[in-house]
Amino acid sequence: MNHHYPKLFEPLDLGFITLKNRILMGSMHTGLEPLGTPGFERLAAYYRERALGGVGLIITGGIAPNAAGSLDHYGKDKLSNDNEVIQHRLVTDAVHSTGDCKICMQILHAGRHAKHNEIVAPSAVGSPINSLVPREMSREEIETTIADYVNCAVKAQQAGYDGVEVIGSAGYLISTFLLASTNQRTDKWGGNYNARIQFPLEILRRIRAAVGPKFLLIYRISTMEMLPEGSSWEEVVTLAQGAQVAGASIISTHFTWHEGRVPTIATRVPRAAFTEVTGKLRATLSIPVITSNRINTPEVAESVLESSHADIISMARPMLADPEFAIKAQQGRESEINTCIACNQACLDHVFSRRPVSCLVNPRACHETELLISPAKALKTIAVVGAGPAGLAFATTAAQRGHKVSLFEASGELGGHFNLAKLIPGKEEFRETLRYYKTQLELHSVDVILNTKVTAEQLEVGAQYDHVVVATGIRSRTPEIEGIERSNVYSYDDLINGFSEGKVDIGSKVAIIGAGGIGFDVAELISHKGISASLDKNVFAKEWGLDFDKHPRGGVAGLTPSPEVADRQITLLQRKHTSVGRSLGLTTGWAHKLGLQRRGVTMLKGVSYEKINEEGLFISTDDGPQLIKADSIVVCAGQESVRGLYDELVKLYPKHEAKIHLIGGADVVAEIDAKLAIDQGVRLAASI
Ligand code: NAP
Ligand code: SF4
Repeated sequence: MNHHYPKLFEPLDLGFITLKNRILMGSMHTGLEPLGTPGFERLAAYYRERALGGVGLIITGGIAPNAAGSLDHYGKDKLSNDNEVIQHRLVTDAVHSTGDCKICMQILHAGRHAKHNEIVAPSAVGSPINSLVPREMSREEIETTIADYVNCAVKAQQAGYDGVEVIGSAGYLISTFLLASTNQRTDKWGGNYNARIQFPLEILRRIRAAVGPKFLLIYRISTMEMLPEGSSWEEVVTLAQGAQVAGASIISTHFTWHEGRVPTIATRVPRAAFTEVTGKLRATLSIPVITSNRINTPEVAESVLESSHADIISMARPMLADPEFAIKAQQGRESEINTCIACNQACLDHVFSRRPVSCLVNPRACHETELLISPAKALKTIAVVGAGPAGLAFATTAAQRGHKVSLFEASGELGGHFNLAKLIPGKEEFRETLRYYKTQLELHSVDVILNTKVTAEQLEVGAQYDHVVVATGIRSRTPEIEGIERSNVYSYDDLINGFSEGKVDIGSKVAIIGAGGIGFDVAELISHKGISASLDKNVFAKEWGLDFDKHPRGGVAGLTPSPEVADRQITLLQRKHTSVGRSLGLTTGWAHKLGLQRRGVTMLKGVSYEKINEEGLFISTDDGPQLIKADSIVVCAGQESVRGLYDELVKLYPKHEAKIHLIGGADVVAEIDAKLAIDQGVRLAASI
C-alpha cells in the first residue's frame, strides 16, 4: 500500500487486465496525428514519457473511425487501414516498452464539430460554434459508420492498444444522436429516447462482439450537457446502464458540450467541481467509473476516491504539465509537481486554433524529441536577473542541467507578474506555479538574491559569470492623457496589490483604460463580492446556473445564472473598434467576458481618451464626446520593456555580447505572456 495516497495507488483488477493505479491520462488532442509518421514519432515520445512517469492508463487523443469523422484534417487523423495500424504501433510499443502502463485509443467521430466539407450528423442541425452546417446521414451511412467504428476498434486491437474509448459526449457525432434537438430523424435511429440511444449502444455491442471479452471498452458519457434541452438524469442513467449491458468495461463521465455556456475546465472552475455527479452515476452501475475535470493535484484526486465518487481519476492537462505527476505523488514529492493551472493557453487554445499542443508551464510537452533537457557537458556560472516567469524558467532549467546559477531579483518576492495574477479571483492556481519554482530553486541549489538591483559593473561577464541572462521584465505603460497624474488614477499593479490588501478605496464608479487580459482581470477583481466562485462549488453553481442535486435537463434547464456582484459601476474601455475581449484566450475568453457582462460591467470600444478630472474620464466615440463618471480610473494600457541593464551590459562587455541574453517581457514586450516567457527561458537554458 502506498502511504502517501493509498487509494490513488491501489491497483484495479478488471478480471482480464489490471491497472496498476487509479491515475488515468485523459484524452487530449495534440495536433500531431495528422502529421503522419513524424507526428506519430513525436506522439510515441510524448506518451512514453508519461508512461515512465508512472501513469496507470493512457487514453490517446481522439482518432476518427472514418474520414468524415475527422475533426480538422479530412481523413488524416483516422484509423481504418493497415498502414495506419503501423503508425499507431509506434505509440503502443513505446508505451508498453516502459513496463505495465496500459494504453487505450479514443475513437472520436467529430460529427457536426468537424471543420471540413464532409460534415455529417443525424439531422442537418448546425452547432452554434461551427459555421459549417452538417448534412443529414442516410440510413445506409449510419450502418457503414457503425461498421467503421467496429473496424477502427479492431484495428486499434491489432495496433497493440489495450482497449478503446468511444466518446459519446461533448457534442460530437454520438452525442447528437441522443438529444431530440439534434436528432430529428423519423427512422429507427430517431424518435423517443430509447430509439435515440440505439446508435451508441449498437456501436458498443458490435465492438464488443468483434474484439472479444479481453479488450477494454470505455464509453464516455455526457452527464450534463450544460444545455437546457440536454438529458434528464433518468436518461443519463438509462444510457449508462445500457452501455454497461452492451459490453462497456468502464464508464467515463464528461461534462458539457463544447457549445455549453458554463465553463468546466478553466481555472475559474473549482477543483473537482463535478465529481459528485460521477458519484451519483457510479451508484447506479456495477462497472468502474472514471471522473475528470479540474483535478490537478494528488491530494484532490485521493479525496475524490475517498469520497467514493469514482474508481479512476482522469487527468489530461496535469499530465502535459508534468509527465512525472504520478511518480512524484507516489514518492511523496508532491511539492515538486509542476501543476496544471487550467489556463488552456498552450493546450486547448492551440487545439481550437489548429496549432500543435504544448503546455504553458511545461514547453516540453509534445516537443519531447526536440527540446532536450540533458545534463550540461560543460558546467557554467550563470547570473539571471529578474525572477518573473522567464527568469524562473531559465534559472530552474539551467540549474537542473548542472549549471551554477545565481538569481537576482530587485523586489522581495519571486514570481513577477504571477504575483498579480494569483490575486485575481479565479486565478488562484498561479500560486501552484510559484510553489513549483520555489521548490525547484531549492532542489537545484540556485543562489537566490532578493531585494537586490544588480548593476552591469557587478555582473562581470566573461570573468565572474560565463553567461548573464537579463529577464528584467516590463513596466506598466502610462499613456499620455491629460490628468493621468491625478491621485484617483492607478496603475494596474498598484491597484491589484492595494485593492487585494484592502489599502485602496476605489469608490463605486470605476473606469478601466485598456481591455486586454489585465483590464479584464482588474474588472474581475473589483466586480467580485464574497468568496471567489473558483474556490466554492456552490458559489460557482449559483454564478453559472447549475444544479448538481436536482439535476434538471442538461444540469441547467430553468436556472438563471446569479453571480454575487460588488456594488460598483465598472466601465471597461478600448480604442480598437474590434469586439472587446477578442485578445483573450480562445477557450476561456468567452466565460471571462460573459461573467463580467452578467455582473453589469459596461464594455466600450472605439474610444478616444480626452482627459481625466475629478468628475471622471472624458472620452469621444463615433457618437460624440462623453463623460464616464468615475471615482477612480485604472490604467491597463499594456507594458514597456525594461531592458536598460541589457543595453549597459552589451556596452560594457562588447567582446562577450554572445554570452549576454535577453528573455521574457524585457525582450518582446508586445507578447509578454507567460507562455512565451517560460518557453524562451526553458529553450535558452536547454541550449547553454
Ligand atoms: P494587452 O493585452 O496588450 O492589452 C493592453 C490594452 O491597452 C489593450 O486593450 C489596448 O487596447 C490598450 N492600450 C495599448 N496602448 C495604449 C495606450 N497608449 N493608451 C491607451 N490604451 C492603450 O496587455 P495586458 O492586458 O496588459 O496584458 C499583457 C499580457 O498579459 C498579454 O500579452 C496577455 O497575453 C497576458 N495576459 C493574459 C491574460 C489571459 O487571460 N489570457 C490575462 C492577463 C494577462 P487599445 O489599443 O485598443 O486601446
Ligand atoms: Fe494546464 Fe495551462 Fe499547461 Fe494547458 S497550458 S496543460 S491548462 S498549465
